Amino acid sequence: MRTGNLFVVSGPSGAGKGTLVSRVIERVPDAWLSISATTRDPREGEVDGVHYLFKSDSDFDSLAERDGFLEWAQVHDHKYGTPRAMVEEHIAAGDQVILEIDVQGGFQIKEKVPSAHLVFIEPPSLEELERRLRGRATETEESIKLRMKNAELELSRKMEYDIQFVNDNLDVCTDELVAYIERQAEN
Ligand code: 5GP
Repeated sequence: MRTGNLFVVSGPSGAGKGTLVSRVIERVPDAWLSISATTRDPREGEVDGVHYLFKSDSDFDSLAERDGFLEWAQVHDHKYGTPRAMVEEHIAAGDQVILEIDVQGGFQIKEKVPSAHLVFIEPPSLEELERRLRGRATETEESIKLRMKNAELELSRKMEYDIQFVNDNLDVCTDELVAYIERQAEN
C-alpha cells in the first residue's frame, strides 16, 4: 500500500478534465475520484451519485453548516462542493484521491492540505476551448459566454498551481498526468 495523496485537477470547462481524469482512473489502480455535490440540475445522461450528488440549495447549505465540505465554491451560478468524509477515508486508506474542482476550490484545498498537489489542465487556446464548448450540445449561448469568461479568470491563475499540462493531444496529456501522479505517489 502506498501513502495516500490528494490531487486537485482544475482548468476551464471544456479543457477536457473529465475525460482525462476518467482515463487516469483506469490506469492508476489506487486512484479514487471524489464525487462532488452540486445545486445545478443534472444534464441529460448524468446520474445522481455517479456524476454528482445533486442537492437542493437547502440540503447543500445544511451540509456546509455542519462542516461537511472540505471546500465549496460558487461556480457558474451554482454551488459545488467536495464532501469531506469519503475523501478523508480514501486518503487514510492510502489512495491517490483526485478532486476535479475549480480554482477557487483548489486554493481552499491548498490552504487546508498544504501537501495537496495542484494540477492545471489548459486548453490549447481560447478559440479551441470555445469550439469544444459549442460542440457540446448541452450548452446554451448564455452558458457558453459564462464559461468563456470564467475560463479567462481561471487561466489567469494557472501559474499558482504546482504544474500545468496543455491538453492538445488526449493520449499525450493522459500519459503526462499519469506519470505525475505516479511520481508524487512514490515520493
Ligand atoms: P460542470 O457544471 O460543467 O459539471 O462543472 C462546472 C465547474 O465546477 C467545473 O470547473 C468543475 O471543475 C467545478 N466543480 C465540480 N465539482 C466541484 C467541487 O466540488 N468544488 C468546486 N470548487 N468546483 C467544482
